[in-house]
Amino acid sequence: MDFELTEQQRLMVAAVRELAEREFKPHLAEWDRTRTFPRAEVAKKLRGLGVLGMTLPREYGGAGLPFFDYILALEQLARASHPAALVLASSCGGPVHHLLEFGSPEVKARFLPGLAGGETMCAIAMSESEAGSDTGAIQTRGRLEGDELVIDGHKLWVGGSGAFELMVAYVRMSDAPGTDGIGSVLLHRDTPGLRYGRTLEMMGLRAIPRAEILFEDCRVPATHILTRPGQFKQLINSFNGERIHNAMFCVGQGQAALEEGLSYARMRKQFGRRIGDFQGIRWKLADMGMKLAAARLLVYLAARKFSDGQDAALEASMAKTFAAEAAFEVAHQALQICGANGFSSGSRIEVLFREIRAHMLGGGSVEVVRNYIGKRMMDGE
Ligand SMILES: Cc1cc2nc3c(=O)[nH]c(=O)nc-3n(C[C@H](O)[C@H](O)[C@H](O)COP(=O)(O)OP(=O)(O)OC[C@H]3O[C@@H](n4cnc5c(N)ncnc54)[C@H](O)[C@@H]3O)c2cc1C
Repeated sequence: MDFELTEQQRLMVAAVRELAEREFKPHLAEWDRTRTFPRAEVAKKLRGLGVLGMTLPREYGGAGLPFFDYILALEQLARASHPAALVLASSCGGPVHHLLEFGSPEVKARFLPGLAGGETMCAIAMSESEAGSDTGAIQTRGRLEGDELVIDGHKLWVGGSGAFELMVAYVRMSDAPGTDGIGSVLLHRDTPGLRYGRTLEMMGLRAIPRAEILFEDCRVPATHILTRPGQFKQLINSFNGERIHNAMFCVGQGQAALEEGLSYARMRKQFGRRIGDFQGIRWKLADMGMKLAAARLLVYLAARKFSDGQDAALEASMAKTFAAEAAFEVAHQALQICGANGFSSGSRIEVLFREIRAHMLGGGSVEVVRNYIGKRMMDGE
């Protein structure tokens, strides 16, 4: 498979990299510490480059570019700032695919242009207190009453909950057991009966708001239903793009961690020499570089296949799992190289270490995605 970039892709990558370095990278620790990020400003800057919504059809405000181009841009943003990269991801990534594939013409016309332009962002609400890896245990219920879906239940850990304007929620819509009874629905933050409870503080990714979601007699137009019971497999398949972009978050953030370790190894002197002149440190750097290069290639492979409309479920899962573990190993070793300075609260590597750790759980834990990879290898489906 050919990963040679076209001239246009090279120029786009260079422009995103330059903007990300200048505008977003300096705020990594500050946004983490203050638990905020100015997403409207980020969106404005990304809009200026024309990358927001780049993969969406032109009729919804996109540029109709391949998914692979989006992944290239995402790498540069993730290397500088996870929250900034999330603004691009929300305009091209998971929920957008979901709306494109399952939304009615009215839903697409009404909501996709705002997502493409970064004026609105969309959360994915799946997890509950008793339904983490086991999506079939979802208890939040939706019942049809006339032309409305009435939802009762709760969601936890949802990135952007309470702040992002839109949410795709996974809801039990029939008595069919497990995942067979689950459908999905698009909600606006201001829907009657939708409330946000306690703030959920996490170890990393602190700039992304997260609040408990409470549905109490929450009424959504039935036309906002995206998938119905019996469509769960299609629903999950529409998230292959999400897995690939999660994997690219790992590679971009892993690259940032590697660069922190490398620059410290070049600068820090002990025993009269740069620590990077010791073989013990060089071998660490070599392993970090190799792991990250392999992860990047796996993400490119999955992204190319997905971009070309091929079945990329296996490669997406492999890329997500491999890249999450590679990035974590890189962050772990980079922090070790940076010594006590790295372990200090608010240092770049300390923030990156906490952020990168999240990818072993979020978007499907490495164990559960491994189960899927193993199943595909054994059963071939
Ligand atoms: C940073 C972050 C962001 C998140 N963002 C969102 C979001 O935006 N929207 C959302 O809906 N949710 C979100 N989540 C929740 C996430 O989807 C869940 O954490 C994940 O599905 C795992 O569920 P759990 O944490 O309840 O762990 P559990 O499912 O309880 O699992 C606990 C441990 O057991 C392991 N385990 C479970 N089942 C198996 C098995 N069959 N085989 C082997 N090991 C197993 C898991 O891998 C894990 O290590 C986020 C989580 C994190 C950490």
